[in-house]
Amino acid sequence: MTTTRFAPSPTGYIHIGNLRTALFNWMIARKAGGTFILRIDDTDPERSKEEYVDAIKEDLEWLGLTWDRVERQSERLDRYAEVAAKLRQIDRFYEAWETPTELDLKRKKQLNMGKPPVYDRAALTLSEDERARLREERGAGVWRFKLDHARIEWTDGILGDTSIDAASVSDPVLIRQDGQVLYTLASVVDDTDMGVTHVVRGSDHVTNTATQIQIIEALEHTPPAFAHHSLLTGPQGEALSKRLGTLALRDMRAAGIEPMALLSHMARLGSSDPVELRPTHAELIEGFDLAHFGAAPTKFDAEDLKPLTARVVQSLETKAVAAILSDAGVPDEKQDAYWHAVRGNVATRAEAGNWWPMFQGQVTPMVEDDDRAFVAEALSLLGEPPYDAATWSNWTSAVKGKTGRKGKSLFMPLRLAITGQPRGPEMADVMPLLTQKPNI
Ligand code: GLU
Repeated sequence: MTTTRFAPSPTGYIHIGNLRTALFNWMIARKAGGTFILRIDDTDPERSKEEYVDAIKEDLEWLGLTWDRVERQSERLDRYAEVAAKLRQIDRFYEAWETPTELDLKRKKQLNMGKPPVYDRAALTLSEDERARLREERGAGVWRFKLDHARIEWTDGILGDTSIDAASVSDPVLIRQDGQVLYTLASVVDDTDMGVTHVVRGSDHVTNTATQIQIIEALEHTPPAFAHHSLLTGPQGEALSKRLGTLALRDMRAAGIEPMALLSHMARLGSSDPVELRPTHAELIEGFDLAHFGAAPTKFDAEDLKPLTARVVQSLETKAVAAILSDAGVPDEKQDAYWHAVRGNVATRAEAGNWWPMFQGQVTPMVEDDDRAFVAEALSLLGEPPYDAATWSNWTSAVKGKTGRKGKSLFMPLRLAITGQPRGPEMADVMPLLTQKPNI
């Protein structure tokens, strides 16, 4: 059965880059009728925080990216220790004692000699006595997986046929000196234990994938299908990594971005399919195909979410905004008429009630000096409310007949006087909602 997972580390809020990963994996699982696991990668006790676990769930729930179960790496440490023992037993795991400074020095020397800075495996040639001495002097070492120096090949769901020479990669450290199991191992154990069939993640994980494929094979499992999506850049192609903190999903939520706008954008951005509003999750999934995505960095511009958000909001039924309208003071019986009048002029859900004060006469009329006499004369031709759907056209015809003005010079001064703004809802819809006769 198709099984995917989204595996964030709870060390911060999830952002637009994480969303891409979450969404792709979610869509693959849902499209296949499979399982989507939310896996919390919390092996680092210092940096992992419970509040971020809650926040991640909240953000995914907001987007409707539902998961079938939650797994936590911090609850599986015994299992990782078991697998580490297995790696020792099959002789693919070795202890190494170099300090970070020593490793740094080695790297610098290699670079100076024009060589790739790959760990030289010095620890593999230590004698039993030397090991004992190092253990005595330095305590426990780190544990490295011994790569098999061959080409590691896989057919990537996005990058196509991919291959990495294992000799160009350092033997990965899987257990730290303090005994903490690192993600590279924990992830492999989880993916194999949990029957994960597809792993989609950012292209910053390509080298990890190569080493993980060897670890999985050493453990006599079959690797899942891997796919690496391109990383996002800013609109000008600039690196987004530093700005990702400002692109947290919760900030977008606070800014009024609609879930379906965000999902519609991210479900197709960087693919050969058009980015368009897909109002339901089913429509996102339909037609989603990883093979349509390209390897080139994908430009992301948060501004693009605004028109999509406006389209979502403008298509909302009255009941979807009823609570907001009530908060703004729109009486129940006027909500339909009000919402139909203004929704084309609202950019976010939170703004739904913003036009209401205008209908209550709480508006500062805008009247140009040159138009003052004209507006005064026009208003003298308008009766008292209630007005109806025909009021605007009857009134402006009368004003036109009386003053000879037409087109914009007729309508705009009246709109400015009544609404205080040059743009807004259709005046024919505005008039029936006015509770007081406008004055200037
Ligand atoms: N916790 C890892 C990360 O956030 C997961 C990567 C993966 O999908 O394997 O980078």
